[in-house]
Amino acid sequence: MESLKDRKKRIDSINEVSESFCLAKWLQVTIDLVHGTNHSCHHPRRHLIPLEELEQNPSALHNTKFKKEKRKEMLEGRRPSECEYCWQIEDSSGPEKSDRLIKSLDHWAYPHKDRIANSHYEDDVAPTYVEVMFDKGCNLACGYCIADVSSRIEQEIKKFGPYEELIDHRLPRNEKISDDETTNPYVIAFWKWLPTIIEGLHTLRITGGEPLLSVNTFKVLDYLLENESKDLTLAINTNLSVKDVVIDRFIKKLKPVLQKGNIKKFELFTSVDAYKEQAEYIREGLDYDKMLSNIRKFKEELGVDVIINCTFGVYSIPKFKLFLQDILELKKDYGRVILDISYLNHPRYLRANMVTEDLHSYIKESLEFMGGRVSEFGGNEFSEYELEKFKRVYHWIVSKERMDQKNQNRADLYTFVTQFDKRYNKDFLTAFPEYKDFMLNCKKSYYFVKKLTIGEDYV
Ligand code: SF4
Repeated sequence: MESLKDRKKRIDSINEVSESFCLAKWLQVTIDLVHGTNHSCHHPRRHLIPLEELEQNPSALHNTKFKKEKRKEMLEGRRPSECEYCWQIEDSSGPEKSDRLIKSLDHWAYPHKDRIANSHYEDDVAPTYVEVMFDKGCNLACGYCIADVSSRIEQEIKKFGPYEELIDHRLPRNEKISDDETTNPYVIAFWKWLPTIIEGLHTLRITGGEPLLSVNTFKVLDYLLENESKDLTLAINTNLSVKDVVIDRFIKKLKPVLQKGNIKKFELFTSVDAYKEQAEYIREGLDYDKMLSNIRKFKEELGVDVIINCTFGVYSIPKFKLFLQDILELKKDYGRVILDISYLNHPRYLRANMVTEDLHSYIKESLEFMGGRVSEFGGNEFSEYELEKFKRVYHWIVSKERMDQKNQNRADLYTFVTQFDKRYNKDFLTAFPEYKDFMLNCKKSYYFVKKLTIGEDYV
């Protein structure tokens, strides 16, 4: 285990390059092949990969001219505005570290620090951590997600149109290149580029949509069955809410890749952000119990690491302690189930920091629950790493936000749930009875901000 002194030394060495230097800008990429876009990590908005750049250079899937400009800013100590997520954490009151530092210290990044720090900003760099989206087919329509990465949301927007009074909410942001994975020029370029970077690749992570619904996910398994990549960690982001037959097929194909030792390991990433009915409310289509039982299936059949991504939003708060209890049970039964908590930034009106102060006690209670059950990383309880990430979210929630922004977010939350409920035949207050008073507050904000009179719903 690294000492605090050694960790500080490594952090200092990153900040010595510059106070905005982040290795993820060079070494990590999420590529959306459906729309021909990428971003260096999940936080900045996706930007277009111009086809003309790609024609001359397949590594433009990662090394776009746009991104090279952001690298230049970092090398010169300027903060790229697209990385606002990290600057908010670095400017908030808590002592926890931003993702800029957490990512830069990671195994796939830090060993390359000197090479990157001494490179020219225009150099093409082979990433060590690639996340790729082949297809946007998805069986879920999560409340915070967008049509660009979910075919179900795309269908929702086609059926009901845009959300009224919420500019751009859930609407497609980029134009789809092709519905056909087999003829999409970005997918074709990816399959040309992969063999050139696979040797130095630490992690290849497949995302979606729901990647278990993509033919290319299974093609990756076929590729890895034929081609060894001994240092590679293969990972998949799945909602674990697809049919049993699909899960079973995936496990059956993955098993020989692992048994032959063709890759270093496999990691299963899944996402859930709240407890049972509250999780199912915000992640339309999720079957919470099924998701938990599928985690057990992967553990029992393959013994792989499971990472649960939790994007903590307004919907997470009331029953989060019960959710932590479920995760703890998984940890006790299997070990190596990691909970990775970050705060939801977009859309603003699902942010956890808009709740009234009386609701902070739920978060404190959950923090105390977690804090009382801490042992080593990957063990049968929560780790310091998991606790630190939750504390970071807590500090962000309780730090000052401008009142006019809070009011706007509350008004927009009211606007959103009113329409979301109608579209999916849901009832927000049935799922969130703890928010009765808070929702009244949101409704008042709505009329204060938008109409200046009180209406009938939710009163
Ligand atoms: S600074 Fe933060 S937002 Fe920007 S690339 Fe690094 S981790 Fe991502």
